[in-house]
Amino acid sequence: MTAVVVTFSDKFGHRKGREPVNKWKRIEEELRILQEQHLYRDVKVIESSQRSHVRYQGRDMLMLASNSYLDFCGEERIRETAAEALTEYGTGSGGSRLTTGTTVLHMQLEEALARFKGREAAMVFNTGFAANGGLLPALCQAGDVIYSDELNHASIIDGCRQSKAETVIYRHNDMADLERKIRQRQGRQGMIVSDGVFSMDGDIVDLPRLVELADAYGLLSMIDEAHATGVVGACGRGCEEHFHMEGRTDILMGTLSKAIGAEGGYVCGSRTLTEYLKNKARSYIFSTSLSPVTMAAAKRALELIEEEPWRVGRLRENIRWFCRQLQQHGIEADSETAIVPIRIGPEEKALRVSERLMEQGFFIPAIRYPTVKRGEAMLRAALMATHTKEELAAAAEAIAETIADDSRHSVV
Ligand SMILES: *Cc1c(COP(=O)(O)O)cnc(C)c1O
Repeated sequence: MTAVVVTFSDKFGHRKGREPVNKWKRIEEELRILQEQHLYRDVKVIESSQRSHVRYQGRDMLMLASNSYLDFCGEERIRETAAEALTEYGTGSGGSRLTTGTTVLHMQLEEALARFKGREAAMVFNTGFAANGGLLPALCQAGDVIYSDELNHASIIDGCRQSKAETVIYRHNDMADLERKIRQRQGRQGMIVSDGVFSMDGDIVDLPRLVELADAYGLLSMIDEAHATGVVGACGRGCEEHFHMEGRTDILMGTLSKAIGAEGGYVCGSRTLTEYLKNKARSYIFSTSLSPVTMAAAKRALELIEEEPWRVGRLRENIRWFCRQLQQHGIEADSETAIVPIRIGPEEKALRVSERLMEQGFFIPAIRYPTVKRGEAMLRAALMATHTKEELAAAAEAIAETIADDSRHSVV
């Protein structure tokens, strides 16, 4: 376990005529508690581009944790397009979207996104986190109600808090619980918001029922398609395509940082929605916009999803194959998305299993509180379209053996 090193030279504050006070006492204490509880976090440094194989600590590893589901981060043609944009437009955007930070590439990407999602308009934010943090407080105010799934992403939780609306948490994907809670507050203005594909459990929102409830009670419907875009639906267009209900959700939000392999967040919907957000969303207005290079890369990735539908198909085959392999080894695993959770429980055990797997060349970190609930730590396998069947079979076998081995040899 990494030791906590405090390197602040001004650790002790001096007040006239008093004993020096350790200003960092509480913070050091909290770090110590995190270590004790096996909740201390550290970065892992990757030494290559983010592909299905990466270089880590000088070794080749099979990457089973990346959100780059279509393996676009280092894809050759996307690189070429990005390199051309770099030569033509340079690195930075030089200003916020409303000042000098909008290039033709920003506009082209927004048009491509709107078309891809079948909407009138789209707008790009700097990250998915910034999109949720900007749009929720812009659309919901004090006095409104936001109904939010208990497993929604942290950026939705923060956006709700910033909005000053009353946030009502409903049980995970439980539409009966949601309706009960709406009825208790009938007539109030507001929104229902949910992850489309849940980021840790990999399950899909009950979108038909969510939209039905939103329309019946006059609420806005919004889904976060961060893990859905490029993954679910026959052509990877997301949850609406998955349920054959194109155009029914009021607000589609997502990120360019996952299957799209670039960075940035987006919102798709009516022109009324995007015009309003351009005028009201603080994270859009008060932040320097993304580099033109990123815009070019994201647009090329959207084109490749449409030109080469085998990628989404191959990803889906890999998901089925990997789950079946795990099941054959006695591990409960079932997913329709690129996220396959493997439940472990105790934080310490999840860390041990993950470390053993890393030693064997499988990059698959443990997911712990606060990302998931305490005592519900897990391995979160994330698949790519370019993983081979052999690689996934080997990974499933190693996961099963390592878990079984750990259970035999330890008390926790
Ligand atoms: C990753 C993620 C985000 C944040 O997107 P970034 O572009 O990484 O900031 C938002 N919502 C969900 C559900 C996510 O998984």
